Amino acid sequence: DPQKQAQSQSLLEITARAAKFYREQLKQSPKAIDYLKSRGLTGEIAARYGIGYAPEGWQGLRSVFGEQYEQQALVEGGLVITNDTSRRYDRFRDRVMFPIHDQRGNIIGFGGRVLGQGEPKYLNSPETPLFEKGRELYGLHQARQSIRESNTVVVTEGYMDVVALAQFGFGSAVATLGTATTATHIQKLFRQAERVVFCFDGDKAGRKAARRALEASIEHLADDRAVRFLFLPAEHDPDSYIREEGLVAFQRALNEATPLTDFLLRELRGDLDLSRGEGRARLVHEAKDWVPRMSAPILRAQTVRSLADMAEMEVAEVERALGMEPGNKK
Ligand code: ATP
Ligand code: MN
Ligand code: MN
Ligand code: MN
Repeated sequence: DPQKQAQSQSLLEITARAAKFYREQLKQSPKAIDYLKSRGLTGEIAARYGIGYAPEGWQGLRSVFGEQYEQQALVEGGLVITNDTSRRYDRFRDRVMFPIHDQRGNIIGFGGRVLGQGEPKYLNSPETPLFEKGRELYGLHQARQSIRESNTVVVTEGYMDVVALAQFGFGSAVATLGTATTATHIQKLFRQAERVVFCFDGDKAGRKAARRALEASIEHLADDRAVRFLFLPAEHDPDSYIREEGLVAFQRALNEATPLTDFLLRELRGDLDLSRGEGRARLVHEAKDWVPRMSAPILRAQTVRSLADMAEMEVAEVERALGMEPGNKK
């Protein structure tokens, strides 16, 4: 569709111009520079990620776009907000700006963080014709080479996690953009590397995000691929962890990350009492929703065997209970 293509082209141009403006504004804002420094980031890493600053004031982008500020394209691109009285104003004001690139390096959206305290802490571009949150991964453009070399990609929750890991020498991290991990994400990740490690925050939200990632992964596994989960101590996220413990400790933790099948079995087991038949029956029952959906036949067979051991049953009995024909696929 040539019309749609032309529209995307002009939206890309608009986001690129805005990103340039934000980068220039950062150079002129000591308080934004101080904020980034307080988070341990150097100018070099800020430049690598194209980090900028959206100034205070309601119509900062007018100085970039002039007459064009009134055009609908800026609203469609998520940069300008218009209310009923048709007064227009910048979406991002007085925030540190993280541009979000697609894989080719085009800027398709932004995340903006308040300097210090304030609500909302992060403001993201809305979904636009360019930017679909369930598809994109922050930092993938910058991380690609490092991911190739290590054949591993680490998935985090936040912009600052990705940038801080890079600052401390770990370049293979990306972030989901304030959304749950999707099947599309998983497929995209596996096109980059054979090993995917989810490393979410150690808090309750992070553990929930890990369960969502497990759910999204289960039908996209392969026997020559590995999905692992690195659970950080409750008070940490990847940013704070690498800052406190350093690169070597982070890499060691990555190497010891929990394989998906172990995480799955742990989740299924929950706090069931496996010393009783009741608990063991419940375990196999819980597995029905999960194990038959596993797309890697060898991993699935191993998981069935582990379940059988835990349930004190024969493998064939477990397969029958799960509705899987013994020896057959799915
Ligand atoms: P920081 O270290 O800067 O405080 P964080 O990345 O550790 O940020 P979290 O609260 O752990 O922040 O949130 C993880 C991610 O979720 C953020 O990076 C952001 O992408 C998204 N997020 C957090 N708060 C919001 C919000 N209020 N609105 C939209 N997205 C948000
Ligand atoms: Mn968190
Ligand atoms: Mn966090
Ligand atoms: Mn953080």
